[in-house]
Amino acid sequence: MKLYLASGNKHKKQEMQQILPDHEIVIPSDEGIEFDPEETGSTFLENSLIKARALWEIVHAPVIADDSGICVTALGGAPGIYTSRYAGPEFMRGRPDGKKIPQDEQNRLLIEQLNATGSADRSCHYACAAVLMMSPDRFFAAQETFEGELVASIDKQAGSGGFGYDPIVYLPEFGMTVAEIPAEEKHKRSHRGKATRAIAEFVKNIKKS
Ligand code: IMP
Repeated sequence: MKLYLASGNKHKKQEMQQILPDHEIVIPSDEGIEFDPEETGSTFLENSLIKARALWEIVHAPVIADDSGICVTALGGAPGIYTSRYAGPEFMRGRPDGKKIPQDEQNRLLIEQLNATGSADRSCHYACAAVLMMSPDRFFAAQETFEGELVASIDKQAGSGGFGYDPIVYLPEFGMTVAEIPAEEKHKRSHRGKATRAIAEFVKNIKKS
């Protein structure tokens, strides 16, 4: 089945395609569609529904949307839904000019912000809410998490796999960061992997019904 993915992120497309190999994943830019809805929700689920509805209104075909982020326990779950815009303690919800800062800067600032709290609790989790929208009143949703710990300092970042915050998220059971483990291992455990597989089950059941 052709599934539109409500994202401009090619890494997400690649991950989604690996997780759903039996389906054709298409992102708006593949078809020259301009897509940048305002994410005005206050939860991952609300934002993924906003993205799914916005793209469904354009393509009128099955859409997958997800909203994800990293939540640091000692920072009260921040940056959470603002993860992609996070720009350090002064700009937890993004810079006033709306410009995003480079990922390696985001990684460095997040570690420094946690270290500044003096907390010994380095735990964090990624969260992902995924939605499969067949039409605005027929949709399925799943939310999952992926637990880890922020590395002690930016010098401890490691790995070149994955994307985003993966080089600074350490997995004690592997003794490695998320960016160091093989992609299949990440997909098995990850917030997006688990939420997307739940969505894939919905797709199967729809075909049967
Ligand atoms: P979204 O595109 O609004 O879902 O924003 C996701 C944000 O969370 C981006 O800044 C990503 O870097 C980060 N993020 C989400 N999932 C992952 C992941 O699996 N690895 C690393 N960073 C992630």
